[in-house]
Amino acid sequence: MKTRITILISLAFISNIFAQQVTTPLELNNYQKVTSYSDLTTFVQQLDKTSDLLNVETIGQTVQGRNLYALKFSSSEFGKDRSKIKVLFFAQQHGNEQSGKEGALLLAQTLLKSENRYLFDKIDLVIVPQMNPDGSEANKRRNGNDADLNRNHLLLSEPETKALHRFFDKYLFEVTMDIHEYYPYGGEWEEYGYRKNSDETLGTTTNPNVSQKIRDLSYKEVFPFWLKYLSINAFSSFGYCPGGPPEIDYIRHSTFDINDGRQSFGIQNTLSFIQEGLNGTDNYVENIKHRAEGQMTGMRGMLEYVFLHKSEIKKVVGADRKTLISGKANLKVSIQSEHVKNGEKLTLPLYSYASRTDTVVIVNDYHPVVKTLLDVSKPAGYLIPKLNHELVEWAGNHALLSKDFIKQKGQRIEQYVIKGIDSIDFERDIIINPIVELNEYKGEISASDFLYIPTNQLKGNLIVLALEPKSELGLVTYKQFAPLLKIEESFPLLRVEKK
Ligand SMILES: [Zn+2]
Repeated sequence: MKTRITILISLAFISNIFAQQVTTPLELNNYQKVTSYSDLTTFVQQLDKTSDLLNVETIGQTVQGRNLYALKFSSSEFGKDRSKIKVLFFAQQHGNEQSGKEGALLLAQTLLKSENRYLFDKIDLVIVPQMNPDGSEANKRRNGNDADLNRNHLLLSEPETKALHRFFDKYLFEVTMDIHEYYPYGGEWEEYGYRKNSDETLGTTTNPNVSQKIRDLSYKEVFPFWLKYLSINAFSSFGYCPGGPPEIDYIRHSTFDINDGRQSFGIQNTLSFIQEGLNGTDNYVENIKHRAEGQMTGMRGMLEYVFLHKSEIKKVVGADRKTLISGKANLKVSIQSEHVKNGEKLTLPLYSYASRTDTVVIVNDYHPVVKTLLDVSKPAGYLIPKLNHELVEWAGNHALLSKDFIKQKGQRIEQYVIKGIDSIDFERDIIINPIVELNEYKGEISASDFLYIPTNQLKGNLIVLALEPKSELGLVTYKQFAPLLKIEESFPLLRVEKK
């Protein structure tokens, strides 16, 4: 009997040591080869066995039938302790951006070390290390259907994005971060004589419909902490600033479109970020150790911030989500915007091709503010014709709450008529801008003909942005839904006005 106890104790001891020693495939390959899907599968299964903190769940399959793994870290039953904060990291939506996945696997390994266990007193964390294994195996950006997953979060037509949103909807994570790479070596920049060179860049939600408190918290509190954390750990970092080169094109913060990983969760009043690590010139293994460690350190820094400010984040996110659900928030929803100047100049850290050193360039043409050009009043809800199967399926993919419509006495129902199609500049793309007329709808509404989608739900602002015909971010801007717009005909969706 005595012997048996000793053996059990030493097994536990060994398993504890082992937990700290499972080697990532990248390390095993001596940083000469990125992690394949099959090595990733073996690694996460191995890791799963080493610690009671971790549980690996398969959340869906890709176009080509590969698994999407969610690594769930919790010191109790995941999602059950409501005092904890739920955080979701997801990497490698773009298959040719390898360092996000490698950083995520390094992070998973690191988090099982005993010195990091304190994080899980307050945090329930999920890491999805690889959103696009089909693309990764071919080292290409898009998925097995040749779709760009990070432009698919509004359409949700791909199995990978559907799986992620279904998973998000289940737990309603308060903090999310989408991990990417950026490629600064383009010819235009080389001609300009400089390129971006920060190890890591950080972006957050810019859509004007996301609560101001959440945007302020992201920019004024999280950003400085995160930049400092990386700097202390010897990685250079900066805010995510697309556009340029300076004097050729303006520099702005990221898109306000809600079809990417960050804004699609941000629009649900989530504290949501994008982290982009510097790519290698060969897009693959060059400098991969440093790149993977930079990505890992950025994610680790975010966890540290969340740990230190758990209560504050939960309070802000909780209150702002409640307002969305009550239907009282955003009496107006911004549906057309532009990036404008505010008089500030940007001090942009760049690498000089001439001197081969890091330097800074002052950018005059800097547009840091997203200004609303057009908004609409938020209706009580929309009526979708059930005969339009694409729209009904779309609502289902987003798990939108719907119900039978009962018209209240005196409630006004409105319908757009499309009078013509104009165009508008959207972040340097020319897109459609329908000319509309809004009239009272006098027809009968029967529950067998229409699905009623109220806007007093967490996705309320997303619903308005998706369904308004003049929304720059709307479904009608995608070719699948373009047939909804027919000149001199009625727009098939109806607006149910608030009483
Ligand atoms: Zn990317």
